[in-house]
Amino acid sequence: MKALVIADYADNQLSSSTLSTITAAASLKLPIELLIAGHECQSLAKQGANIPLISQVNVVDHPLYSYQLAENMALMIHSLASNYSHIFAPNSSNGKNYLPRAAALCDAPQISEITSVVDSQTFTRNIYAGNAVAKVKVKSEKIFLTVRGTCFEPCNLTGGNADIVSLAAATDSELSRHLSDNLNSSKNLDLTSAKVVISGGRGLGSQENFDLLKKLANKLGAAIGASRAAVDSGYASNDMQVGQTGKIVAPDLYIAIGISGAIQHIAGIKDAKVIVAINNDPDAPIFKVADYGLVTDLFEAITALEQAL
Ligand code: FAD
Repeated sequence: MKALVIADYADNQLSSSTLSTITAAASLKLPIELLIAGHECQSLAKQGANIPLISQVNVVDHPLYSYQLAENMALMIHSLASNYSHIFAPNSSNGKNYLPRAAALCDAPQISEITSVVDSQTFTRNIYAGNAVAKVKVKSEKIFLTVRGTCFEPCNLTGGNADIVSLAAATDSELSRHLSDNLNSSKNLDLTSAKVVISGGRGLGSQENFDLLKKLANKLGAAIGASRAAVDSGYASNDMQVGQTGKIVAPDLYIAIGISGAIQHIAGIKDAKVIVAINNDPDAPIFKVADYGLVTDLFEAITALEQAL
């Protein structure tokens, strides 16, 4: 059998989580096909064909898929599914939306947000906010999987020469319509692929103080993240939230400033290589997971760090 990876993309570039999903699929040692669904997406097909791990790129280029609406994506994936034993998608907001619907239409099981591939039927995933790892075995001839991108290296993007095959669109579900986009115009780097992330918490006390992190981030080439309390208090936008209900990050360096270290926050930073915490409470739980801890007033620390950098 074969595996299918459904691509996620932005600004005409395959996303880093798509490349990681291909690496995850490659663990099965099956031929891997890539599915690009979108509108005017031929340049993405060419990018996909250059990936050495991909044997064929299937393109469904139609206005129905401009925004990857889950209802239409699910119908289309269902129409292709009989060719594949494993169907993968990144655990992105799109993947999380359409893949379970496609699995249900195929009457097949889905395992969500896998963190490793043990064998063709066995996968691991985190449970209880990352405090336990479940090894899940599925006895099914067809399995749908979403993949936690930070757990797999992105695959190589050059050197391949896969065939590109155009496929017809499936029918319109007529269940949903895209009305408009309301995009945040932030210049923040992508949190999920950044090598350095600086996150601020409620300890910063205000939106103006939160903005102090920008200078530091510029000097370090870092993306800026936030705890949920900082988001809920209006210091930072929703898309900056790191944690169980925010983004999962895996940078080389994670700096948590004025963040207490609740388990829901830690769930999002477990894969960071080095964690630095700055907090004036020596008993803050963040120090239990930090590689380096600075017990001090965060405003003094930010000024000193900025000067040193
Ligand atoms: P606080 O816990 O209030 O900590 C602020 C810290 O700043 C304190 O440790 C304090 O000592 C320190 N501080 C204050 N002033 C200074 C100063 N001048 N100098 C130095 N340090 C200072 N949280 C997330 O972050 N991400 C999630 O995805 C998430 N998902 C959740 C899902 C569920 C279902 C639930 C129930 C909760 C979730 N939470 C999440 C919320 C989480 O439980 C915590 O409430 C939140 O992480 C706390 O944010 P914080 O550390 O910024 O705030």
